[in-house]
Amino acid sequence: MSIKTIEQIRKRLAERPAEIAEARRGGAKVVGWFNYNVPEEVIDALGLIPVRLGTGGSDRLVELGSRYISTGNCVYVRQAAGLFAEAEDPYIVNSDLVVFDVTCKQVYRLAEIVSHYFNVNTLVLGVPYNFTVPAGVTYFRKETAALTRRLEEHFGVTLTADNLRASVRLYEEIRAAIRKLYEYQKQRKSPISWSESNEVVQAGNFLDRREYLSLLEQLLQELKNSSRDAYRHLGEDAPRLLLTGSIIPPGDSKLPGVIEELGGRIVVDDLWSGFAPARLIHVRGDTLDDVADGYLVPHASLPNLDFEGDTRLSNLKALSAEFDVSGVLFHSLRYCDAFTFKAPETKRFFLGLGISFLEIHTEYAGSDYEAIRTRVEAFLELVKGRSAALV
Ligand code: SF4
Repeated sequence: MSIKTIEQIRKRLAERPAEIAEARRGGAKVVGWFNYNVPEEVIDALGLIPVRLGTGGSDRLVELGSRYISTGNCVYVRQAAGLFAEAEDPYIVNSDLVVFDVTCKQVYRLAEIVSHYFNVNTLVLGVPYNFTVPAGVTYFRKETAALTRRLEEHFGVTLTADNLRASVRLYEEIRAAIRKLYEYQKQRKSPISWSESNEVVQAGNFLDRREYLSLLEQLLQELKNSSRDAYRHLGEDAPRLLLTGSIIPPGDSKLPGVIEELGGRIVVDDLWSGFAPARLIHVRGDTLDDVADGYLVPHASLPNLDFEGDTRLSNLKALSAEFDVSGVLFHSLRYCDAFTFKAPETKRFFLGLGISFLEIHTEYAGSDYEAIRTRVEAFLELVKGRSAALV
């Protein structure tokens, strides 16, 4: 039994590129963005069409991108460069301007590369290294205000308080609906799987945000009345897994695919391509400063010298308790130093909680598929045996 609203979302996604191209012919402007802390509410409130850019999983595009950006960068960033070089992704080619945040330095480099080689209009949003000190908060407020001003100047539009208030409300409602969607994963019997939920979240990168909210509400209503069991094929002892680590953008299904194929059940993630924004971003007022404050959410690429006060870890701890997690899979994308260097402390942290942990290094080539499969299979056996030993 399929979920009708998800079929509808897939159909709307297929239609969306042509719809955006048509809107541009009618004078609409599109702002694409990379990567983690960009406050999309501002783009929406300015009357511009926001699209979160970036895909993964294509070794061919990584190869193409590597002609322009150093191979010392992660494959996600290299694929992004490849997307601009190829100029076929409909969202890339229809972006009138692209905003890059500098949460990760590799994304900053990407901004320079695409501006230099592909003549893309770019804006860069500075992100402070330390979110907890007043200077960091002030810096990000100023950066958000500067981004707004530059967008206003570039597109000849003006931000109004009413429009910002409406956009803030819209995005808060979207994030709340996504949080409700993930509630289903807390149950043994769920009408929707994690991968379907993740697909729905990523559809929000592209669809018109008002239509997206109404589709989310329709989906929640459909699930409420559904007797579907997305995990009927799994036994009671299927390991309940938390997926964390580097971004897994649309197009990259290798690791989640292996986990599910081997009978593991991902119940939650803290990926910035998945649940993290809905879980962690809360805008508590309707001014530009409130929006900036809501987006000050720590990311692994920001230096953290205070292990005890790392909210990334406390969020992981809360997630593992709320979703009754029995194992953690840590996704380290090749040359993603941000997450690779966070893996040892995350491992110590989970083992201290008595939760099994496995780090998987991977890239977009298919050559490591069998090796990953073997390691994940052994890990699932270990978790099934309710052992919290180090793998
Ligand atoms: S955080 Fe990692 S995956 Fe994300 S852009 Fe930076 S290096 Fe790439």
